[in-house]
Amino acid sequence: MIDLEFDKNHIWHPYSSLINPPPVYPITRAEGVRIYLEDGRGLIDGMSSWWSTLHGYNVPELNAAMRAQMEKMSHVMFGGLTHEPAIELCKKLVALTPEPLQKVFLADSGSVSVEVAIKMALQYWHSQGKPEKNKLLALRNGYHGDTFGAMATCDPVTGMHHLFSSQLTQHLFAPAPEPKFGEPCDEQHTAELARLIEQNHAHLAAVILEPIVQGAGGMRFYSAEYLKRVRALCDQYDLLLIADEIATGFGRSGKMFACEHAGISPDILTLGKALTGGTMTLAATLCTDKVADGICSGEAGVFMHGPTFMGNPMACAVANASIELLLQQNWHKQVSAIETQLQEELAPLNDAPGVADVRVLGAIGVVEMKQPVDNRTLQESLIEQGVWLRPFGKLVYTMPPYIIQPEELTQLTRAMHETLREL
Ligand code: PMP
Repeated sequence: MIDLEFDKNHIWHPYSSLINPPPVYPITRAEGVRIYLEDGRGLIDGMSSWWSTLHGYNVPELNAAMRAQMEKMSHVMFGGLTHEPAIELCKKLVALTPEPLQKVFLADSGSVSVEVAIKMALQYWHSQGKPEKNKLLALRNGYHGDTFGAMATCDPVTGMHHLFSSQLTQHLFAPAPEPKFGEPCDEQHTAELARLIEQNHAHLAAVILEPIVQGAGGMRFYSAEYLKRVRALCDQYDLLLIADEIATGFGRSGKMFACEHAGISPDILTLGKALTGGTMTLAATLCTDKVADGICSGEAGVFMHGPTFMGNPMACAVANASIELLLQQNWHKQVSAIETQLQEELAPLNDAPGVADVRVLGAIGVVEMKQPVDNRTLQESLIEQGVWLRPFGKLVYTMPPYIIQPEELTQLTRAMHETLREL
């Protein structure tokens, strides 16, 4: 038996209380799209373990890659040493991402890759003899992680970090993008953003945003034209653009990378979550030659970062296997089939009482309620129906593994219907 009593009394879970601990459900194994409770019940994982398990669980190709690498070398320091899994992965990332992104820094988690991205931008301007360009411009409703540098770029209100505001670098925030995905975006929609840039560019290093999909800060999908306009403003005022594709990367929004919806390339790109197919923690920060040359020709002469587990060979090996599997599996067809089915099956909820909005993009389906929902009750009801979702605030949403079968997806959306009807 899993010792839930010990768990309850001693172990922090994400955003949890140890005085009034939320229920945690004991999981003993996972296979395909299902995670299995200790009592044997299988739940369809509609969360892909927070955007990561694209191919589902216990995937033979990924297991084989980890096993083979483990037999050779599970870890070695990356300072002064290198290895094939890292080189192969960086080749793949350079080839897959927009052409100007040529240099790769391998980090341990999404938040760290955001720290690395911010540091790259600051060090770049320092090297250019402009250390005063040390602020970032971020978007309202944005979310970039839980470490201090990343926290400072999250929406100060919805970003869950206002408690620490006195300790955080004070950056600038533009209003959240208003035009929705698929809608046009004219000058008036970026007027405030343009004004902030115009007035502050001398102190701005970069704009940081989640392209097209704002995730944890509201699950909002915004106009590709908005993103194009941000790129143009960055060019006009000589700011770097940091695109955080930790959630959207590897096909989730219907394009391999969400930036492709707008046909733009950032100067710095962060990737994580699905990078290893949800098996091991690994992230990457890519940048252009211009940024890398700028950093390395400056006072320090080197990029000032180097974590212990940088480029972990097992994580790189399984990332390689995951990317290969993704490319073999015709991810585009899988994601667009999920998109069509989510659209059809979630659309009727638009007329349900208490529902404010239903939206779908790629393999992401969101039901936004008018009022915040009681997550515990909702989760219990979903589990009764064999589904794992983790609603937050007003949002009940899903981003299932790409391998989900139509009948499994129907079970998932039906559970959403039933549960929301009960409310
Ligand atoms: N950026 C975005 C867009 C994210 O969605 C997340 C994770 N929710 C992060 C950064 C932070 O990643 P991690 O949790 O791996 O540190």
